[in-house]
Amino acid sequence: MSTVTLTINGQEVMVPAGTTVLDAALGAGFFIPTFCHDPANPGFGGCRICVVEIKGARNLPASCVTAAANGMVVETESPAVVEARKTILELILANHPVDCLTCEKSGDCRLQDYAFLYDVKGGNFGGERKDYAIDDSNPYISRNMNKCVLCGKCVRTCEKVEDRAVINFAYRGFRTKVATALDSSLADSACASCSRCVSVCPVGALSYKSMAGKARVWEVQKEEMICSWCETGCLFDLVRKNGKVLSVTAKTPGDGKSLCLKGRLGMELRHNEQPPTPMLKKDGEFVEVSWTEALGLDDILDKLK
Ligand code: SF4
Ligand code: SF4
Ligand code: SF4
Repeated sequence: MSTVTLTINGQEVMVPAGTTVLDAALGAGFFIPTFCHDPANPGFGGCRICVVEIKGARNLPASCVTAAANGMVVETESPAVVEARKTILELILANHPVDCLTCEKSGDCRLQDYAFLYDVKGGNFGGERKDYAIDDSNPYISRNMNKCVLCGKCVRTCEKVEDRAVINFAYRGFRTKVATALDSSLADSACASCSRCVSVCPVGALSYKSMAGKARVWEVQKEEMICSWCETGCLFDLVRKNGKVLSVTAKTPGDGKSLCLKGRLGMELRHNEQPPTPMLKKDGEFVEVSWTEALGLDDILDKLK
């Protein structure tokens, strides 16, 4: 295997040929922020927050799409790099509803983390702001496209599963947004509710309804579970607060597994200490019924009396 040797922040680093500057730096223990980089779907280069300074280069290249080369001299936190990242964050915040106090993602949000790290408070740029209605049509997923940073991770994650590709970038320029076909609600799309997109979203644009208002991210414990409903063996997180199961969430997918709704809900039901009351549609309305009625056993029990 051929290798290349470069210098990152004064440290000599040797990596296999073809490695990106981002991976070389991360592998050597240096921090580089990313929004759009997804190790399972690399090479997008859209958010530019991962820019670095490379000696002799005319501009600040995005490290996630720049191959490491022999003799390259890279700085990951030079004044020019920090300035560029601050500007990118300012531009994002100029069009982002910063309601971290009540945002489900607070404490696990890259925009929040990077704004803190680079001391960016927003307010340096004015102008038009997005004002989309929140899409709550899906029973499991809430979509707030006002908080989307257009990293595209959800798009690439969804399209990696054969025959899905439910969402993609739509419109142009300022109006660019992630949308379903014909910009319909998620409920009216071919979405399979697998929640893979939620698991990769770096901000609060996509969130689990099952977690809404129940706990802050630092209050929960996650336990990795392998689904046993079929032979695929998808990975999920069992989410608990004070020992009580709150939800089963999609584990960040890295191997192309599709993660089905049956598996996630099945595990949620199995681990829920209080199974939900079954409901049946009567006269056009869903009403709570007993398990024997839901399973059609009432007639049999009547005959046994
Ligand atoms: S997405 Fe992040 S930055 Fe935006 S409101 Fe939520 S926690 Fe705050
Ligand atoms: S829930 Fe699954 S199918 Fe629906 S948009 Fe997200 S990744 Fe695609
Ligand atoms: S919804 Fe989330 S994952 Fe999708 S593009 Fe927006 S910020 Fe990225």
